[in-house]
Amino acid sequence: MKASTYPLLDAAEAAEMVLDRTPVLAVEQVTLADAPGRVLAEDVIAPASLPPFPASAVDGYAVRAADAGGTLRVLGESAAGRPLAAFVGPGTAARILTGGVVPDGADCVVMIEDVRVDGEVVTVPDHLRAGTNFHAPGADVRAGEHVLARGTQLGPAELGLVASLGLARVAVHRRPSVALMSTGDELVEAGKAAGRGQIPDSNRWALLAALLEAGAVVRLLGIAPDQPEALRELVADALAEADVLVTSGGVSVGTHDLVKPLLESLGTVHIGRVKLKPGKPFTFATLSSLPPSGEGLGRVAEARLAFGLPGFPVSSLVTFEVFVRPALRKMQGFAKVQRPTLPVRLGYDARASADRTEYQRVTLRRDGQEFVAETTGSQSSSRLMSLAGAHALVRIPPGDQGIKAGEVVDAIILALP
Ligand code: AMP
Ligand code: MG
Repeated sequence: MKASTYPLLDAAEAAEMVLDRTPVLAVEQVTLADAPGRVLAEDVIAPASLPPFPASAVDGYAVRAADAGGTLRVLGESAAGRPLAAFVGPGTAARILTGGVVPDGADCVVMIEDVRVDGEVVTVPDHLRAGTNFHAPGADVRAGEHVLARGTQLGPAELGLVASLGLARVAVHRRPSVALMSTGDELVEAGKAAGRGQIPDSNRWALLAALLEAGAVVRLLGIAPDQPEALRELVADALAEADVLVTSGGVSVGTHDLVKPLLESLGTVHIGRVKLKPGKPFTFATLSSLPPSGEGLGRVAEARLAFGLPGFPVSSLVTFEVFVRPALRKMQGFAKVQRPTLPVRLGYDARASADRTEYQRVTLRRDGQEFVAETTGSQSSSRLMSLAGAHALVRIPPGDQGIKAGEVVDAIILALP
């Protein structure tokens, strides 16, 4: 074994280096069916007002407030999608259903519960106020209004809003396509019998879930053995189509650690070690550009990235959180690439690593107005139980100090309890 020659970089600096080299992917127009979860590449400006017409909010009668207390002749019915072609003049009313157009002439709607109907006439209450019980045109959105900013993810409300404005397509960023590979002679397919010394490839599935949550389109390359040629063959094809290569294992300094040399041969390795616990051997490279043949890919100009994540299951997921997830979000155009943070009170004495920033896994519980963070137990990098069910990551700076129970720190929120 030889010592690594890669400089040991500060974790925050390394995260910046990754983002600096991460491209925002090209813009494409997609139909609404393909839009859920995508990120807007342009502001959405309302082409028309919402609602586009005065729309009744209730079932009842459209009348003139000036006719309060009167017995009015009913001209007909305005139902949703079936407007009444009539003018509500003095002494008249129109039966109206929720969503129906308030006919010209009427200035308010009286709820069905508040009237007395007698054949073709209706008696309305003594006090009526113009403007009640219907949505005026433009009350929700005015034509020309900025309704959504670029960088916004299209969730349920956003997508509904886009559709309600009558738009059928939206400009969004491409999703990053990611080729995912596990390395190691000890790995077998999950579910297959493991011989002595063998373990199931769990990182593939853990990272698949993480990648999908981060918005990537994933191609599973499977398991590469610890042989340089086999490794190279497995990635060669995939790289023609992928924006990002993510590997796990094979990045530390043992003789079977082949990923760094592979990435050196495919591009430029910028990061080979970081002051991060867990995750010291994290590796990051940019890949040389595609041959210009391109076959209609049309994205030769976009930088392609490779992340060599450490093999230990917790290390691979923590380095994913710190480095890969923000990069994938930047690629998709997210305005916010980082997870939210909240101040929490430490419920345990957090010991620090001497020389590395440590991301400790914690659960949160409510205590009055604040959250208290408790450790998930042994923080061993092999122990996925330290991450399963964790609500947050707490960043403990290096040194001999640590952070004492009772102090307030910023927690990176994975999921609130
Ligand atoms: P490495 O970084 O290849 O030296 O691996 C470090 C540790 O992580 C070893 O104990 C490996 O067996 C384990 N490991 C590597 N890859 C995986 C994987 N895909 N799934 C589960 N454990 C793994
Ligand atoms: Mg290995």
